[in-house]
Amino acid sequence: MMAGLPNGNDSDHNNMNRSFKVVIIGAGISAIAAANMLCSEGVDDIVILEATDRIGGRIWSIDLETDMGHKVELGANWIHGIELNPIYKIAVSNNLLSNQYAGRHLGKKMMFMQETGDPVNGRIVQDVDLVYGMLMSECEDFYKQQIPTPYEDDSVGAYVEREFEERIRRYPAEERRLRRACLGHRFLGECVISGANSLNDIALSEVGSFEELPGVHYVIPPGFESVVHILRQNIPASCIRLNHIVNRISWNKHGESSQDRPVCIECSNGQKFFADICLVTISLGYLKQHGDRLFTPPLPSNKNEAIQHIAMGTVNKIILEFDGQILPDDVFRLECVWNRENIENEDMADKWVKKIGSFEAVADNVLMGWLSGHEAEYMETLTEEEVGAKCVAAISGFLSKTRPIPNLKKVTRSFWRTNPYTLGAYCHIPVGATVEDIHTMAEPVYDSTHKPVLLFAGEATHPTFYSSAHGSMLSGQREARRILDQLGH
Ligand SMILES: Cc1cc2nc3c(=O)[nH]c(=O)nc-3n(C[C@H](O)[C@H](O)[C@H](O)COP(=O)(O)OP(=O)(O)OC[C@H]3O[C@@H](n4cnc5c(N)ncnc54)[C@H](O)[C@@H]3O)c2cc1C
Repeated sequence: MMAGLPNGNDSDHNNMNRSFKVVIIGAGISAIAAANMLCSEGVDDIVILEATDRIGGRIWSIDLETDMGHKVELGANWIHGIELNPIYKIAVSNNLLSNQYAGRHLGKKMMFMQETGDPVNGRIVQDVDLVYGMLMSECEDFYKQQIPTPYEDDSVGAYVEREFEERIRRYPAEERRLRRACLGHRFLGECVISGANSLNDIALSEVGSFEELPGVHYVIPPGFESVVHILRQNIPASCIRLNHIVNRISWNKHGESSQDRPVCIECSNGQKFFADICLVTISLGYLKQHGDRLFTPPLPSNKNEAIQHIAMGTVNKIILEFDGQILPDDVFRLECVWNRENIENEDMADKWVKKIGSFEAVADNVLMGWLSGHEAEYMETLTEEEVGAKCVAAISGFLSKTRPIPNLKKVTRSFWRTNPYTLGAYCHIPVGATVEDIHTMAEPVYDSTHKPVLLFAGEATHPTFYSSAHGSMLSGQREARRILDQLGH
C-alpha cells in the first residue's frame, strides 16, 4: 500500500476534501472502469467509496497453497467470448492469456459418469446435447423473433422439459431415465450460467435477450483481478477509499447543503461526502435488501419495482485440494450425471451436493465444483469438513470403478449469498420480469432541477450482457460517458 493511501482508518482523512464532482459507490469492475474513463478524460475530481478492504468486488482471485502457476477465482472465471469483449482486449494487450493450462495435464476430455461408477453411454450424451442445444436456441427465439410463448408466464425449464419428453417417448423406460438424467445434468450447468435456482424460474419470453459473444472462453492465469488492477492504474490512489461503507445517499438536496452539491453520501464511519453526481454500482442483492433505507428520498417507484422484479441468484464454488492427481491424464472435467428423479423428497443435508454438475481440474490435484440456488445457499451454512466429506464421497462414487482418489488436503469456497456486500452472485430475468426492468435499472434519477444526480451501473444494468463481467465493465463506461456529457466534456 502506498504511504498515506486512504483506507478509512487514517486520521488524515478528517482533513481530506469531501466535496467532489462525482462520488462512485463500490469498487467492482463497473466502478473502476467508470473512474478509469473519467480520469483518462481529465475528470479526477472524483472519489470511490468501497465497503471492503479490497477492490474488485465479485472479481476475486486467490492463491492456493498448491503451486499451480496461476490463481484460482472465487468469482468471475472466464472471459466469455472474444469478439467485442472489452475484457479480452485488455487481457490480450497485457499478455494475460498465455499459460492457460499451467498446473495441469493437457486433458481435453469430459468424463460423463453415473453415481454407480459407470460411464454414461457417449451416444446418449451426444444425442441429449444436440436436442438440448436445439431447444435452448428455440427458447432464445421467443425473444429474438418476438414470438408469443406457448403459455403465459412460461419458463425455460418448463418449455424444454415438455419438448424433451415429446422427443424421448419412443425409448424404453430405462433409456428415458438416463436421457432425463443427462438433461438434468445440462440443467445444472445452465442454472450456474444463469445464476438461477431452477430453469423453471427463468422467463421463457426474455431468455434470448442475453447475448453470447462469439469465440472461446478464456481463464486469466495471473487472475481475473489483474484486469481490474490494470484499469485502476490511471486512477490516483487518493481517489479510492477502502473500508467506507455507505449507509445513506441523500439526493435532491439543492440549496439545502452547505457544500452546494445536490447529493450527500454518509458512511458508517461518520464521514460525509458531497457530490454533483453519485454513481451507484453496488450489487442488485444489496439494493434489494438495503435500498429502502439507503436512499433519501426513496428511489422513484419504477426503479424500486425494477430492483424487486429482477432476480439475484446464488452461485458458489467449492475448490478441493488433494495430495495427488484426481482425474485420469486425458480428462479435465468429471461430469456428474446424478439420478435426481426423487430429488424433491430428499433432505437438503443429503441432496445439496447433487446440485454440483461437474468437478473441473483447475490443476492436476485441484478440483473446482460449482453449484447454484438453494443448495449453494445451504452449502454456505456447513463447515469445511462437512463440505469436503460430502464432495469426496460423491467423487469417490463417480470414480469408484475407475481409480481410487487421493486424500483431501483443503477446502476453499465462496460465500456469495452471505457476503454482506454482494448478497448473491449475479442476476437473471425471472418469470414475471422483463428486460425493460434492466433498462429501468440503468436509468438515471433526476433532481428537482432536472439534472441527473443518481446514476446506476453494474452487471444488473446491462440489457444484453447482464450477469457478466464485460457487461458490468461496459455499464461503467456507459455511465462515465453520461457524466462526461453532463459535464460538457
Ligand atoms: C461465482 C461467480 C462466477 C462468475 N463468473 C463469471 C465469469 O466466468 N465471467 C464473467 O464475465 N462474469 C462472471 N461473474 C460475474 C462478474 O463477476 C460480475 O458481473 C461483476 O464482477 C460485477 O461487477 P460490478 O462492478 O457490477 O459489481 P461488484 O463487483 O459487486 O462491485 C460492487 C462493489 O460495491 C461494494 N459495495 C456494496 N455495498 C456497498 C456499500 N454500502 N458501501 C460501499 N461499497 C459497497 C462491494 O463491496 C463491491 O466491491 C461471476 C460472478 C460470480 C459471483
